[in-house]
Amino acid sequence: KPITIITIGMAGAGKSTFVQRINSYLHTENKPPYILNLDPAVTRVPFEANIDIRDTVNYQEVMKQYNLGPNGGILTALNLFTTKFDQVLGLVEKRAESVDYVILDTPGQIEIFTWSASGAIITDAVASSLPTVVAYIIDTPRTTAPATFMSNMLYACSIMYKTKLPFILVFNKTDVQPHEFALEWMQDFEEFQAALASHSGTRDSEGEPTYMNSLMNSMSLVLDEFYKHLKTVGVSSMTGAGIKEFFQAVDASRTEYETEYLPELERAR
Ligand code: GDP
Repeated sequence: KPITIITIGMAGAGKSTFVQRINSYLHTENKPPYILNLDPAVTRVPFEANIDIRDTVNYQEVMKQYNLGPNGGILTALNLFTTKFDQVLGLVEKRAESVDYVILDTPGQIEIFTWSASGAIITDAVASSLPTVVAYIIDTPRTTAPATFMSNMLYACSIMYKTKLPFILVFNKTDVQPHEFALEWMQDFEEFQAALASHSGTRDSEGEPTYMNSLMNSMSLVLDEFYKHLKTVGVSSMTGAGIKEFFQAVDASRTEYETEYLPELERAR
């Protein structure tokens, strides 16, 4: 059975470039993936998607017809597409014998997928049919500030607990900014707190611990638990560095899916 990689990331993190990179990597490995594009608003897809939401719904038309703004248009397009997702899944399953990887590219506006009913329906449908892993793409150069780093990790954390799927943090753009700082912060929370303190201070003007500092202390437990449950890789979608390691993490996630996600799914049924 192939494994499905759901790619999620904030706009600008490099998700499109990443999908393009893993696609070309898999082609050179002679394992061309099956690609699903779920972003109705993307104007150019640099890779050829096997199934493209844009073939089914015209998001410009949806906006006009329902008198919606861009985000409402994307969400409605995704909702319309979701009503046909059983057919989509049927097509994917037909190809299950011949492909090793299915790549699911999500809308550039991250919350449209992560916090919508359609996003949840699609994720659950895919994950109950095939081994599935979430790849969360991070803009490494833009996450070096400790407070930004924490927001980003909490966002990732909320997605992981929502989907309950195996999860890979993909630190992208390591050609510009190596991700070692992130690894250090994740391995040693005190290190992270020290970084935060030197950025924002630990005491306010009255000498009391700052709100941020107290928040951080309580957050450390949550984040430590989160970090234990995920895999981390650094990649450059630009140069291709780390892509091999990414696929090692994907392959390792298959086992995790089978031993942790599937039994939960069976229990829920
Ligand atoms: P998306 O909005 O998440 O799909 O992001 P894009 O793939 O469009 O990338 C956003 C910007 O980041 C573009 O200018 C890319 O060229 C750039 N970018 C993406 N990946 C990398 C990378 O690994 N290294 C560098 N230096 N730039 C990257």
